[in-house]
Amino acid sequence: MSLAAFDGTRRVPPAVNEPVRSYAPGSPERASLEARLQQMAAEVVEIPVVVGGRRVHTGDVGTVTMPCDHGHVLARYHKATPELVREAIEASAAASKVWASWRWEERAAVFLKAAELLTTTWRDTLNAATILGQAKTVHQAEIDAACELIDFFRFNVQFAQELYAEQPLSDHTMWNQLDYRPLEGFVYAVTPFNFTAIGGNLPGAPALMGNVVLWKPSATATLSSWYTMQLLEAAGLPPGVINFLPGDAAMISEIALTHRDLAGVHFTGSTGVFNSMWETIGKNMNRYRSYPRIVGETGGKDFIVAHPSADAQALAVGMVRGAFEYQGQKCSAASRAYIPASLWPEVKAKCTAMMAEMKQGDTRDFTNFVAAVIDERAFTRLAAAIDEAKANATIVAGGGYDKSKGWFIQPTIIETKDPNYRTLCEELFGPILTVYVYDDAEWAETLQIVDRTSPYALTGAVFAQDRQAVREANAALRQSAGNFYINDKPTGAVVGQQPFGGARGSGTNDKAGSKLNLMRWVSTRTIKETFASPLGWKYPYLG
Ligand code: NAD
Repeated sequence: MSLAAFDGTRRVPPAVNEPVRSYAPGSPERASLEARLQQMAAEVVEIPVVVGGRRVHTGDVGTVTMPCDHGHVLARYHKATPELVREAIEASAAASKVWASWRWEERAAVFLKAAELLTTTWRDTLNAATILGQAKTVHQAEIDAACELIDFFRFNVQFAQELYAEQPLSDHTMWNQLDYRPLEGFVYAVTPFNFTAIGGNLPGAPALMGNVVLWKPSATATLSSWYTMQLLEAAGLPPGVINFLPGDAAMISEIALTHRDLAGVHFTGSTGVFNSMWETIGKNMNRYRSYPRIVGETGGKDFIVAHPSADAQALAVGMVRGAFEYQGQKCSAASRAYIPASLWPEVKAKCTAMMAEMKQGDTRDFTNFVAAVIDERAFTRLAAAIDEAKANATIVAGGGYDKSKGWFIQPTIIETKDPNYRTLCEELFGPILTVYVYDDAEWAETLQIVDRTSPYALTGAVFAQDRQAVREANAALRQSAGNFYINDKPTGAVVGQQPFGGARGSGTNDKAGSKLNLMRWVSTRTIKETFASPLGWKYPYLG
């Protein structure tokens, strides 16, 4: 069918960060969300595999349960078979022919509409799925499943416009142009449990740039991922552009990562899994049509370092919010703190007082500040670290755990005298903050310890009133974090404001939600058109 043309330079609506709703008692948003939560908790959703727009129920199912009430099943997801993964690759190739021929503004419209739907009619659904399925409090769900995902969609569209506008020099004899082609093949998006927004962004960003995607969602976040998939469909995403493949990660990855048409990997998750994916790609280098783009945001061991001049109250708030919000399961969560001996008694007293006030429990009770960790595996890992600390270090606050109903780990502060103590070095991914108290005179040495203690370099914060100390930390820790905070907690990056990502063991630092990330999903073609082609072969110097 021939399509009507459109002439004119289009401009996308300017992106603005989605305002965070308060959900205060008596607010209309609270009443509407509570109703959706009740409704969602009373049903068991059947989640299919989606290949080329077709829903497939394979009968081989896994369940999504509530971390705060692990006997409560929220959904049953059907696992992709090897045949379906191969079909998804074929479906994506077929969809690519159409999708890549759409003008970029037409693709952008799908994501702008998805953002608008999420602002309005879909907001409660995505928030409720995140509150129940991933155990986020209402505020944590709102800043993730609603605001950050809306921001990803809107800002990516604006960044795409800026990127496409970058064109080379030309003059009256020739016109040079850059064609921002999508990659040849499919992008394999593998998403983590801890951010619904990352679930939408990893397949969404490459798709916006004209690519086709195989999306392997995280098992424990399958419910919110499934609603995100349906949101994109409701916004007009054509069948086959994103294929939804819940199931066995190792099996799906084996097929996707060894396929000739693998054009890219968009991953967020642990460093070990990313390394294994990169190794598989390395071993299969001779198979691919192009060099796959490999983008991965991975683990962290995020720090707070305080100078003796730090404001004790601001520091204590940064520590407890940074370490315990979402049960410490943000890649950016503070999990190690370096506090001068002169400040520690006051900071310790403030932290423990705040922690004594924090309520922990089911996320449906909005008065809770902390909830359960994601699953039994996480619970076991964290309980073991607490037990180990009881024997080898000092538990300053918390130290309890209980799995009778949900996977509850109490927010815990460990104090150690060993700068290489295990919980200062390894990512635990839970509500455990380890504190190393240093001698005030050893500020410079402490900065060195912060830099070399872990293999990661994701986020970090310095607290100091002394400007020179801020300068020293900024310089000494330049390579220690991809997101560096001054007198603020190391979490809570906002799209368009703090582009997010780290280097070293924390990933390829392609800054999700920025132009830098979108650049990885295009392969430019340079076109030179000469208006006056030379007609003689001899150059003047030959005379
Ligand atoms: P994870 O590595 O366990 O899982 C991530 C994804 O990889 C899931 O979809 C999982 O099913 C899949 N996976 C697991 N084994 C696989 C395999 N063998 N092959 C291919 N895929 C496989 O991580 P998680 O527990 O979901 O998330 C927590 C981790 O993610 C933490 O390490 C955290 O620091 C990191 N994270 C990093 C960022 C960042 O921006 N740097 C953001 C969020 C989370």
